[in-house]
Amino acid sequence: MHELAICQSLMSQVESIVLEHNAQCVSSIKVGMGPLSGVEAQLLKNAYPIASAGTVAEGAELIIEELPVRVKCTQCGSESDALPNKLVCKQCGAWQTSLLSGDELLLMSVELEREPACSDDLNEADKSEFNIH
Ligand SMILES: [Zn+2]
Repeated sequence: MHELAICQSLMSQVESIVLEHNAQCVSSIKVGMGPLSGVEAQLLKNAYPIASAGTVAEGAELIIEELPVRVKCTQCGSESDALPNKLVCKQCGAWQTSLLSGDELLLMSVELEREPACSDDLNEADKSEFNIH
């Protein structure tokens, strides 16, 4: 199962962040997902409790944020939003575009908790790319 393997590498990434910050637990994990990542959000959600069981992230909330599809036109050079199934330039309508984003799966932030004061939010420092390819 593809999503379970993705979830497991996500967990090891989360664990190293937790160790790095000397935290005790994780309250939530935010993942950014492009529609072209080839990953099903629902399957990832299903795999998450299995992958996180017994890890520091057990019981933490998984938040999946959909990332936009962006293309750069090789004809007119402009960048625009595009539909996952229609990667055309919004400016000139050309289909000769290259994908800027939309196929990624990123670990966007991890909300950590320290005992006993479980309120530290270390979001900014924890943005890191989660490479699935
Ligand atoms: Zn164009």
